[in-house]
Amino acid sequence: MLPKGLQDALNEQIKNELYSAYLYLGMSAYFEATNLPGFAHWMRVQAREEVSHAMKFFDFINDREGRVQLQAISQPPGDFRSPLDAFQQALEHERRVTGNIRHLRELAMQTSDYEAEPLLEWFIGEQVEEEKTASSIGEQLKRVGDQGVGLLILDRELGQRKASANET
Ligand code: MG
Repeated sequence: MLPKGLQDALNEQIKNELYSAYLYLGMSAYFEATNLPGFAHWMRVQAREEVSHAMKFFDFINDREGRVQLQAISQPPGDFRSPLDAFQQALEHERRVTGNIRHLRELAMQTSDYEAEPLLEWFIGEQVEEEKTASSIGEQLKRVGDQGVGLLILDRELGQRKASANET
């Protein structure tokens, strides 16, 4: 039986992951509007990956015979100062999500919910990747600046991103 406090926190995390999807979809729209189709594509793939994260929590709650309760998703920012600003906000956001996952892991340990551990271990590894990726694209943007040929090369490169294998 899924402990009530843990179930509430997992439901909250479904919302957090869907907010991530919404945030990245907003960034995708910003990149579409600023004629950077590769960046827009990358963010669109990222948004889909976030929906798949939400679904992992959704499925886990149901598999444990818990009750999924969907919550309201806030409006994400609609505009950004520059591509670098967007990736800096993405990194800040992923750091907050890492904090959410760590909190979930602590809650699972406190309630001796061993069943949640494989799921949360997966997310702990995933967050290392998410922070690394946002940070490394941000660093590349600092190097190439907000315009010029470097930005177009990066746009082409990000446009090659494939959907991840673990998407559901
Ligand atoms: Mg996520």
